[in-house]
Amino acid sequence: MSNAALGQKHPAKWRSYFVTEPNQLFDSSDETVAVEGHFILLSFKMMAHNAVPEVSPLLSPSPAPPRLIFWETTAGCNLRCVHCRRLDVLDQVSDTDLSTDAAQAMIADIAQNFKPILVLSGGEPLVRPDILELASFARDRGLRVALATNGTLVTAEKAKGIREAGVARVSISLDGVCAATHDRFRGAGNFDRALAGFDHLKREGVSLQINMTVTRFNAEELPQLYEMVLARGASALHLFMLVPVGCGVQIAETDMLPSEEYEKWLNWFYERDIERKIELKATCAPHYFRIVRQRSKEIGGLPPSHHRQEAKGATHPNQSLHQTTKGCLAGQGVCFVSHTGEVFPCGYLPLSVGNIRATPFKTLWDTSPVFEKLRNPDKLEGKCGACSFKYVCGGCRARAYYAHGDEQAEEPHCIYVPPGFNVSSSCDAL
Ligand code: SF4
Ligand code: SF4
Repeated sequence: MSNAALGQKHPAKWRSYFVTEPNQLFDSSDETVAVEGHFILLSFKMMAHNAVPEVSPLLSPSPAPPRLIFWETTAGCNLRCVHCRRLDVLDQVSDTDLSTDAAQAMIADIAQNFKPILVLSGGEPLVRPDILELASFARDRGLRVALATNGTLVTAEKAKGIREAGVARVSISLDGVCAATHDRFRGAGNFDRALAGFDHLKREGVSLQINMTVTRFNAEELPQLYEMVLARGASALHLFMLVPVGCGVQIAETDMLPSEEYEKWLNWFYERDIERKIELKATCAPHYFRIVRQRSKEIGGLPPSHHRQEAKGATHPNQSLHQTTKGCLAGQGVCFVSHTGEVFPCGYLPLSVGNIRATPFKTLWDTSPVFEKLRNPDKLEGKCGACSFKYVCGGCRARAYYAHGDEQAEEPHCIYVPPGFNVSSSCDAL
């Protein structure tokens, strides 16, 4: 790829952050990936050879905009899931949730500066009586709106309201292919209720995504779940790797898959990904991006999940809802706004950068030292710091934080050891 072509393809503000030797890296046979948090074009050819790519470590003075903002619309939820991110779930909306006025002010402020996908999550967003009003408010201001729900409160009438509010996609959590597995995590009767909610939304023509949190107790059901999701006509299947936070801390020892098992299932996922039957995404499993590069070197070609940054050649009807470009995007392309308005890199990393009630979202996004640090892979430590895949993976910063008390430390659930890396000295250092 020539410099001229690069210049046309990417915004001017990025060009100065591109790699030092463009002719070496961007010949026509190289595939490139733009990591929109910052500054990067990578040569997959170099990655495939396990070389450290020549990437400018400069931070952008004007960070790339957020692509996904997860807003915890309420701390209230009708369920008590064993792996919930929250410890303090309430039955009803909380009086510390952002009011309708405060929520609208936040949405208007975000929409004035950015055009991310706004994910309405919780708790359970549908316990919030004004949730559809807020969804259409965001839609009318040019935001794409997604709703993350447990599905159990979606009646036929609610599904119609969701469609009319302009929600672009609804994700429903399913943690197994049968009631026995799903209800173990989410309570009796909730598998059937979630599927009923799915069917109501399907009849309304709403794009549907299934989220599955993979644990020791349901991993073997993944192939069946994949077939079920295809048969039911969902648009996407997203896998979540357990992050030991909230209730997840208590079940981590019993429920967390061993790292080798995650590796096995992420490899299985890669094989499904390249079949291109449905939109697939491994969420909060950043080392999937390492596996993709390792496997694509063997098999050739990258799965659709790794061409999302290219609008042309879209393989899924909801391409823009499917875009990711890097393993962990906490504070880089995504962030989380809590039910009280605190802003975090993601919903699992408890490092508040401020509150939108006191500081405009754009100021927090542009100036937070926490975000700035997360945006620089050269600040990673341990084996992630020594790893040539750190620019496309980065490891889970939340798992690093919980394992080592340091969000820049190495991801504890990745089995990869960079060539020449001394594991014992890494452990000593931690
Ligand atoms: S730190 Fe990154 S990978 Fe980990 S839970 Fe947050 S967004 Fe996901
Ligand atoms: S060592 Fe860290 S950066 Fe490298 S692949 Fe594993 S999690 Fe990713």
